[in-house]
Amino acid sequence: MKIKNYINGEFINPIQNNWIENYNPAIGEVYGQIPDSTKEDVEKAVEAAKKAFPKWSNTTLDKRSKILSKIAALILEKLDFLAAAESKDNGKPISLAAQIDIPRAAANFQFFANAITQFSSEAHESVGLNAMNFTLRQPIGVVGCISPWNLPLYLFTWKIAPAIAAGNCVVAKPSEVTPMTAYLLGEICTEAGLPKGVLNIVHGLGTSTGQAIVEHPNIKAISFTGGTATGAHIARVAAPMFKKLSLELGGKNPNIIFADCDYEKMLATTIRSSFANQGQICLCGSRIFVEEKIYDRFKQDFIEKVAALKVGNPSEKDTNIGALVSKEHLEKVKSYIDIAENEGGKILLGGSKVVVEGNEKGYYLQPTIIEVFDNQCKLNQEEIFGPVVTIMSFKTDEEALTLANDVKYGLSATVWTNNLNRTMQFSKQLQTGIVWVNTWLMRDLRTPFGGQKASGVGREGGFEALQFFTEAKNICIQYE
Ligand code: NAD
Repeated sequence: MKIKNYINGEFINPIQNNWIENYNPAIGEVYGQIPDSTKEDVEKAVEAAKKAFPKWSNTTLDKRSKILSKIAALILEKLDFLAAAESKDNGKPISLAAQIDIPRAAANFQFFANAITQFSSEAHESVGLNAMNFTLRQPIGVVGCISPWNLPLYLFTWKIAPAIAAGNCVVAKPSEVTPMTAYLLGEICTEAGLPKGVLNIVHGLGTSTGQAIVEHPNIKAISFTGGTATGAHIARVAAPMFKKLSLELGGKNPNIIFADCDYEKMLATTIRSSFANQGQICLCGSRIFVEEKIYDRFKQDFIEKVAALKVGNPSEKDTNIGALVSKEHLEKVKSYIDIAENEGGKILLGGSKVVVEGNEKGYYLQPTIIEVFDNQCKLNQEEIFGPVVTIMSFKTDEEALTLANDVKYGLSATVWTNNLNRTMQFSKQLQTGIVWVNTWLMRDLRTPFGGQKASGVGREGGFEALQFFTEAKNICIQYE
C-alpha cells in the first residue's frame, strides 16, 4: 500500500516522487511505501496551513470543539480497524493497541474539545491606577508537530489535538517507521469536517522532512517527542529563530520498591512497567531498585512471572510481548544485552532473540532481566528502550534516592511504599517530571506531563498544552 501526504485536505504524492519502504516488524517484510518528502512538500503544507489560519483561528470555540469531538467519535467507531493497523505497523500486541493506544487517541481529541471551552483569559484590575489588565491567549499561527514510533497515534494526536483546539494550523510528521495510523487520521479529519489546511500531514525521514519543518521560518512553534539527541539538535536549529519549543525526550526511569509495599500489586504492575509495549515506552521503569530485605523474594517471583509471558505474533490476542519496531532497533537493544556481563552484570532471564513460528523474520526478543551492582554501568545510565530491565538492591532510603537521581534523565519515577513520610520525601526529592506512588502510567489528562534534565523542556497536558500553543498578550486599558 502507498501512503500519501495529506495537504490542504487532499491525499497527494510527494513532489519528487521518492518513496521509503515501510516494514511490518512482526514478519520482517516490506508491506508498503511512504513519501520521502522534501522541503518542497513541507513548503506546500506550510502554505496550506497559512492560508487556513485566519478562518480557523476565528472559528467559534463551539464549532472547533464539535469538530474535535467528532474526530474522537470517529476514532472510536473505527477502533478495531485502527488497532489492527497500529499493531501491524509497530509490532505491538493488538490487545494493547485496542485497549490503550487507540482509545487514548480518541481521548486526546475529546479532552481538548472540552478543555478549549474552559480555557479563558485572566483579568487583573490595577487598583488605584484606574487600569484594567487582561491577558489575551492567541493562537500562534502555523505550528509543527513531530512524533516518534513507540505510541504512534497516541502521541501524534496528543500534540495535534491541543494545537488545533487552540486555533492553530498544523504541519505534522509522524515517525517514518510507523506512518499508517497518522495517514488514516487524515481520512478521519476530512470525514469529521475539519476545514482544509488546518491539519497537514507530511511523511518522510527526520533528517530531511523533519529538519525542513524545524527550519521553516513560518512555523513558529515546534512540539517534538523523540530521542534526547534529536531534541538537542532541534533546539540548536530552532533557537536562532526564537521558536517556541516543547521537547519530550528519553527516560531511564527508576522503579523503587520498599519492603512495606503491597507486594502482589507491586509485582503485577512492575511486570507491566518493565515490558509493556516491549519496553518501548518512555515511561517504562527500566531500572528496578529493591530494598534488600525483599530482594531475593522479588528476584525469584519476578523471574518466574516474566518467564511465563508469551512472546509472539502481535495479532494474536494472548500475546504479551510482540515484535520490536525495526531490525535496527532490535540490534541496538541486543547490543546492550551483549555488553551486560562485561559491565559487571548478570543475565538472570532472557537475553536472546526469539524465532516465532510462521514469522521467522520478525524482530522478537525475550524479556530480559539483568542484575547489576553498579549504577554507573551503561545499562543503568543509557536508555535501552526495549524489553530489558536491570535490578539492583539497596539498604536505605538515602541510598535509593541517590541511585534514582544519579542519571542524566528525569522523566518519571515509581515508588512502592505504604509509608506516608517516605512517600512525601521521595515525591519532593526525586528529580523527575512525574512521580507515581503505588501505581504506574496512571494519567489524568488535566495534569502536566513532561520531564526534567535530559528528558525534556516544557510540559504537555491540560491547560499547559493550550498555553504552549498560544501566545499570551497583556492588554492594559486605563480609564478616567
Ligand atoms: P527519534 O528522535 O529518532 O525520532 C522522533 C521523530 O523525530 C521522528 O518522527 C523522526 O523522524 C524525527 N526526527 C529525527 N531527526 C530529526 C531532525 N533532525 N529534525 C526533525 N525531526 C527529526 O526518536 P524515536 O526513535 O522515533 O523514538 C524513541 C525516543 O522517543 C526514545 O528516546 C523515547 O524515550 C522518546 N519518547 C519520549 C516520550 C516523552 O513523552 N518524553 C514519549 C515517547 C517516546
